[in-house]
Amino acid sequence: MTTDVLSRFADLPRDAEGKVTLSDEEWRARLSPEEYRILRESGTEMRGTGPLTNHDAPGDYHCAGCGLHLYSSEHKFHSGCGWPAFDDEVPNAITRIEDRSHGMLRTEIRCRGCDGHLGHVFVGEHLTEKNVRHCVNSASIVFAPKA
Ligand SMILES: [Zn+2]
Repeated sequence: MTTDVLSRFADLPRDAEGKVTLSDEEWRARLSPEEYRILRESGTEMRGTGPLTNHDAPGDYHCAGCGLHLYSSEHKFHSGCGWPAFDDEVPNAITRIEDRSHGMLRTEIRCRGCDGHLGHVFVGEHLTEKNVRHCVNSASIVFAPKA
């Protein structure tokens, strides 16, 4: 049920724009250690281990930190990369940040609702018609099936 998956976000304090700003301690109390490591410390889950990588059911993907709707199942595709992949996004849900860590130039993607780390976005791989791949950690998102 959609309401069950998203009920954990109902009590989050939000500002006038609906954004969630918590202290590190508050995030630690709310998130699992793996979610905290990925969302708040820009970690990456081990390739091929995320439960949503090959997940195909119709529904919506929400931020695991604040519940913001980020992707829909129509955006999801099988990239073979070992993480959930999307070739489109919900408008105004995701911010892009230049990431020069690990000696690479990549574009980090974050949730606009809580600034939580989602993964990286890659353009020009020609994997789908839209030519975009959002490479997202399973731990950064929760799935709400279509009612
Ligand atoms: Zn969020």
